[in-house]
Amino acid sequence: MTEQPLATVTARRSIESLSHDLVGRIAAGEVVERPASVVKELVENSLDAGARRVAIEMSGGLTGLLRVADDGLGIPSDELSLAVQRHATSKIREAGDLDRIGSLGFRGEGLAAIGAVSQMVLASRFVDAESGSKIAVGGGAIGAVTPVARAVGTTVEVRDLFFNTPARRKYLRSASAELRQISQLLQSYALARFDVHFSLGVEGRVSLEFPAVEDFPARARQVLGQERMSRMIPVLIEESDLVLEGFLGAPEDSRIRSGHQVFLLNGRWIGSPLLRTAAREAYGDLIPPSRHPEAVLHLRLPLKDVDVNVHPTKREVRLARERELYPRLIGGMRRVVEDRYPALRLRGPDEERPVTYTPRFGSESRVAEPSLTQALPGILPFPTPPVSSLPEMVEDEAGPVMASMWQAHGTYIFATIMGAVLIIDQHAAHERVLFEQALSRLRGEAAVSQELLFPQVVELTHDELSILLEVSAILEKLGFHLELFGGTSVLVHAIPAGLRAWRHGALLRDVLDHYTDLPTALDVQERVARSVACQGAVKANHKLSLEEMNTLVDQLFATEKPQGDPHGRPVFLRVELSELNRRFGRSG
Ligand code: ADP
Ligand code: MG
Repeated sequence: MTEQPLATVTARRSIESLSHDLVGRIAAGEVVERPASVVKELVENSLDAGARRVAIEMSGGLTGLLRVADDGLGIPSDELSLAVQRHATSKIREAGDLDRIGSLGFRGEGLAAIGAVSQMVLASRFVDAESGSKIAVGGGAIGAVTPVARAVGTTVEVRDLFFNTPARRKYLRSASAELRQISQLLQSYALARFDVHFSLGVEGRVSLEFPAVEDFPARARQVLGQERMSRMIPVLIEESDLVLEGFLGAPEDSRIRSGHQVFLLNGRWIGSPLLRTAAREAYGDLIPPSRHPEAVLHLRLPLKDVDVNVHPTKREVRLARERELYPRLIGGMRRVVEDRYPALRLRGPDEERPVTYTPRFGSESRVAEPSLTQALPGILPFPTPPVSSLPEMVEDEAGPVMASMWQAHGTYIFATIMGAVLIIDQHAAHERVLFEQALSRLRGEAAVSQELLFPQVVELTHDELSILLEVSAILEKLGFHLELFGGTSVLVHAIPAGLRAWRHGALLRDVLDHYTDLPTALDVQERVARSVACQGAVKANHKLSLEEMNTLVDQLFATEKPQGDPHGRPVFLRVELSELNRRFGRSG
């Protein structure tokens, strides 16, 4: 159905400069914004050349050496200097080719763009050639082609990236952040091509390696991990003009970020609002509206239905028939999710209106979500006297003592105090409590941990593990007891006291996500404290007992800033009795 690119000697065309007219039709713009974009261009070139092995290596930090080596077809030595020039490509010839792009590259700009902002060496040996040759490009200046002994394939070495573009160099993020992007790219392409051996070496150590495997599920197990895969729902939708293959996550593994999702289109890693929304819609109210399912989806469409020539980095694509595809994708995925979670079918099997379908999420009730209070005491209840014997509105130095309290809409706590009524946002209040607790632990106060009844293995992605390692010392200070458990798993023995809804470890993943989302300008410790506080705090739409409300309010007023950060949302509103009296026209 789909015309897959065939990289063979006979099918290969020579590299030629594109005509002026054709250059004008190609989406122009910068393709090399960061180290990961260099790797993307190079890996795509390797795959286009039919490589079965692609090895990425990084050493000497971000602006040291970046090398991508492959065993693909190679480049004939008389075409080397063309390869590094702008608008020279072997992949398209004429305007008509733009309508059926089967290769990952086609703009003829990748190598030129990299050579313009680095010291680059391109070495290659063509399959048919006796020996290899290489060419150096420094800041755009192209050197001579010289012979080199090497195996068939191509190696590109990039040194001193952005040496001549200080602005871009300055905006490089930390080595670990850039590395995460590179590793995400590698994992995505590994998912796109299970038949290729991918590896990533960092400072001489193998950081990721995916040997070629038999099929897509086997590759998914390599990348996502056995444990996680065992909970995922396989998707295979085959229709005459579309194939959708992949895996969707269990509802309880839903994420606060969609960044974990991997979408592929005809072997290309893409960002896809279409697939993101369709995957989300497929779950209906099985997951809360603000969350996203885990998803790895490979969509295959006829080449003529896909326009890749939209954005220079080619992560954005345009699909013909998008309107028609959308409901079909939702419908297909929904059937798959329904089969696994029949509760969804309550809606009625014939209600086929997925496009206008809006999630009907009320409480997190469908997904049995064991709150930590069941396994562990959540907000540790203070010993409180029975309701009836509570003192009458008293306020003393230590803060207000609650006479009576109600929870409204599962979200707000109403409390009367001397001369006023307080309306407290339960999530914000708990977050404040946990945040200040975290800060004092980071200042050296001993953490109070809750041992988990059974230590739990939490399977992380490669990226999550790398973030976890970055911040593990801070998490330990806050009260987590973590132990590496082989592969990308960690064994969690204990978590800070007072956190809610551990959700079999999903909480830890949410904390890592939240941490990644916070501005890097913030101090690392503060970022961790904020993520733990926000994710560990009781959510809105969650019923609290009177005891829990009492404890929470007591804890809130024992914090330094019960009102919250001056820049954050307020934690509570105080409505004065005199204001109520005035409004109701009472004198007095
Ligand atoms: P594009 O990929 O858009 O054609 P590039 O500048 O990335 O443009 O590459 C220019 C040309 O160099 C390609 O069309 C291809 O013929 C050749 N080339 C680049 N990298 C490789 C590689 N790893 N193996 C074989 N040929 C390559
Ligand atoms: Mg290219």
